[in-house]
Amino acid sequence: MASTLFASDFKPRPYWWEAYEPAALPEITLPKSARVVIIGAGYAGLNAALELHREGLDCVVLDSHEPGFGGSSRNGGMVSGGVNVGKRYMAKALADADAAPYLNDASDAFSFIEALISRHAIDCGWTRSGYFLGAWCKSHHDAMAHKVELLNRTARAEAYLVPPGQQREEIGSDYYRGGMVVGRAGHLHPALFFKALLGLCQERGIPIASRTPATGLRETAQGWSVSTPRGTIAAGDVLIATNGYTGDVTPALQRRVVPVGSYIIATEELPADLAASISPKNRSFADTRRVLTYYRMSTDGRRLIFGGRAKFGHTDPVETAPILHRFMTDRFPQLAGTRITHAWTGNVAFTLDEMPHMGKFENLHYALGCNGSGIAMMSYLGHQTARKIAGKSNRVCAFDRPEFPDHPLYTGNTWFLPWIGRYFRTRDWLDRRFG
Ligand SMILES: Cc1cc2nc3c(=O)[nH]c(=O)nc-3n(C[C@H](O)[C@H](O)[C@H](O)COP(=O)(O)OP(=O)(O)OC[C@H]3O[C@@H](n4cnc5c(N)ncnc54)[C@H](O)[C@@H]3O)c2cc1C
Repeated sequence: MASTLFASDFKPRPYWWEAYEPAALPEITLPKSARVVIIGAGYAGLNAALELHREGLDCVVLDSHEPGFGGSSRNGGMVSGGVNVGKRYMAKALADADAAPYLNDASDAFSFIEALISRHAIDCGWTRSGYFLGAWCKSHHDAMAHKVELLNRTARAEAYLVPPGQQREEIGSDYYRGGMVVGRAGHLHPALFFKALLGLCQERGIPIASRTPATGLRETAQGWSVSTPRGTIAAGDVLIATNGYTGDVTPALQRRVVPVGSYIIATEELPADLAASISPKNRSFADTRRVLTYYRMSTDGRRLIFGGRAKFGHTDPVETAPILHRFMTDRFPQLAGTRITHAWTGNVAFTLDEMPHMGKFENLHYALGCNGSGIAMMSYLGHQTARKIAGKSNRVCAFDRPEFPDHPLYTGNTWFLPWIGRYFRTRDWLDRRFG
């Protein structure tokens, strides 16, 4: 471990876990039957459970680890409505009319999470301070004009272009070729947000079984039989909410989501003036590179939380921390002497069409495929799926589509990710030089 990079109190675990670390819950007796069994206790699973409970449907939530063990306590905490969903449309120049329903629903996902936080007065450092997307090259900046217009029209994004000359008003860096701001965005403390959702479920007496993997699913005349090492549950419906941790219990869904490791570091506390100079408006940041980085200040404003695709494939976060540190100092040379206190990783779930999905496949409900951006989206899709199961949705969510593509050569083994990484790095290099 390079001692100049790592603080003496360095921990290879999420910084967020200093405030709340996922823990096993007191063991419950598994019910023999439940109207709905939810597999996966993250944002999607718990939001589904809360809505089912509100509609009077009994459910039980299973997680193979501690609830919140997955992406829901490890993420960057950056929340925006639709910017990433829109990416596919900007890149492939599909008709705006095709993009509009998705962007609309993505915008509703943002409204949903804002309302949830406000309704329950959730103390999770929610700050609606906007987001700056840095252009990696001039052509990316030129393409942003159309994106700004589309996002404002369909996703109420409060977006505007930032020319290179004004970039310093948004970010303490000259690294980008300008960028765009999305005003309707914010950040939160992901583990505290999760803790609050868990608390809401517990207050309502919703049974949650930790360290209880679903190990088998068998369709029956009444619905489903869900096997676990602690017994079998008869369920009317089953919701798969396993996102980047989807395994071979649902092989058909495993073939449709690609788990990709995302890596984050937290810096030691910065001097106040240095911290303020990094993010003068307390924005969240990401860039248009294919090997993307994303970052924001911690909820107390004292550390930089810096994430990205330091490696494609699954690696020890201690190994990727120096790579992230280099990415960080490329953007902020003023942080050259800043040390790392935490480094961690978690799985995001990519889909082959780069879109989130909810729906029913072989009679199983699912909410899957955050594509790296799921605090609002997976919460929303969990909620939407619960409304659908309860027969209460009065319109079809745009992400509820029959198509959920797979690929004949992908069965769950991600051997190809390092090759994609090499390809992305080459494309980034070419874009930066000639784009
Ligand atoms: C490093 C990182 C950074 C990210 N940054 C951001 C960000 O800044 N903004 C943003 O919007 N999104 C971000 N995301 C994505 C976001 O965290 C996820 O979209 C979201 O947490 C997904 O929630 P979920 O409930 O769908 O799944 P998860 O929270 O991943 O939960 C899935 C659960 O399923 C359980 N499970 C799996 N198989 C079984 C089984 N057989 N039986 C029982 N349980 C099972 C797992 O144990 C896990 O707890 C990030 C993700 C990561 C990993």
